Amino acid sequence: MIVMKFGGTSVGTAERLRTACSLVKSRVKQKPFVVVSAHNSPTCRMTNTIIAATENALTKKPDISKVAELQRTICKELDVPVALVEPLLEEFQRLLAGINMIGELSLRSMDLAMSFGERMSSIVFNDVLCREFGVNSKRVASFDLGLRTDGNHGSAIPDKTSYPDIKRNVEALGCDVVVTTGFLGKGPDNHITTLGRGGSDFSGTIFGAALNAEEVQIWTDVDGVMTADPSVVKTARSIPELSFVEASELSWYGAQVLHPLTMQPAIEHNIPVRVLNTGKPDHPGTLIVLKTTATKGVAKSVVYKEHISLVTVTSLRMLGTHGFMAKVFEIFGKCKIDIHMIATSETSVSLTIPSGYNLEPAAAELSKIAEVLVEKEKALVCLVGQNMAGVKGTAARVCGALAKAGVNIKMISQGARELNIALLVEDDDINATVAALHSEFFE
Ligand code: ASP
Ligand code: MG
Repeated sequence: MIVMKFGGTSVGTAERLRTACSLVKSRVKQKPFVVVSAHNSPTCRMTNTIIAATENALTKKPDISKVAELQRTICKELDVPVALVEPLLEEFQRLLAGINMIGELSLRSMDLAMSFGERMSSIVFNDVLCREFGVNSKRVASFDLGLRTDGNHGSAIPDKTSYPDIKRNVEALGCDVVVTTGFLGKGPDNHITTLGRGGSDFSGTIFGAALNAEEVQIWTDVDGVMTADPSVVKTARSIPELSFVEASELSWYGAQVLHPLTMQPAIEHNIPVRVLNTGKPDHPGTLIVLKTTATKGVAKSVVYKEHISLVTVTSLRMLGTHGFMAKVFEIFGKCKIDIHMIATSETSVSLTIPSGYNLEPAAAELSKIAEVLVEKEKALVCLVGQNMAGVKGTAARVCGALAKAGVNIKMISQGARELNIALLVEDDDINATVAALHSEFFE
């Protein structure tokens, strides 16, 4: 069996959703297990609209009208009876009334609110697949198939002990195709959890692992993983093959096509992942496997992450002592702050932190043991490729290209695995940096 995960844009319009259904039908012999995201198109940004309505309900009259209108419109365009989604819209209305009444919006409530997007889109998808395409399929929400997670609302992690239950439950359904919700699970207290924004990719490989799939297909709106962000570099092209570790690095360092944790279950169970374009189903896309066939070129892709903060901790107490670093990292750990890149000298350590964290408590704690400088609006640009290992002159080419482009490198890091070279530059220099590296390594 194979897993076919359709992202928001692949189910974002009636036309795209029908294409996705036809793709499932054409592969029915392979027993597709279908994972869908909430609808997402320029006129129907379901998850974002749900979040806005939920946040509004905190202080204003609860109003589900935008969400309901978007959902009813796509149902009508697909001849799906609106009655199929009405009970979920009513439940959403009650949730917003509750949030409004108590004036409190927890991560748990937000997870429940966001869940309606995938719960409704999976109903719509399955209805079209059965009725219009004549496929023998059943739709069951992921948490009802037994996907359990930890209780970390907003970025839950799957509980692998639930995998055998999932397999049993799916097999017991006895149909050709099963359609389920991406993004969602249930925590230890039986409340719905989400795997983080863009988490349906992660659901794809989680189910791939649980069901022992031959392959996980991630259907999206680009020709696979690209050599650079095509909105920054016009000549960016799709990468035919990547290794698991390269794909992990790329997704961590900002490649938008894959949720950062997607590769984890694939690596643990050695399941190939294919990134494909729903709009161009014949394009080969990108195949991600344990070991790639020989490829030329030292680099595979250049990726970036914006709005990075740089924290520099300086202390003479570091000189020749032990345990100082441990203290620094313990503070970040206690404050639950994710650190990306690290560079150290004997008297200072620089760390990069992604956007979205309040750094004040950590900075206050750190300033008890050292001098602390926090700088914002930096960008992390990263050149990724396993073939860099052992090749002389790669760093020189990186630095040379940036010197020519007039970009200052604030911080630089290359691990001993020589998988990537990461650079910290000003946010304003992203385009120049990415373009310079792309032209040096890919053109
Ligand atoms: N609907 C969720 C989001 O917009 C999950 C996903 O699309 O992968 O983040
Ligand atoms: Mg996505």
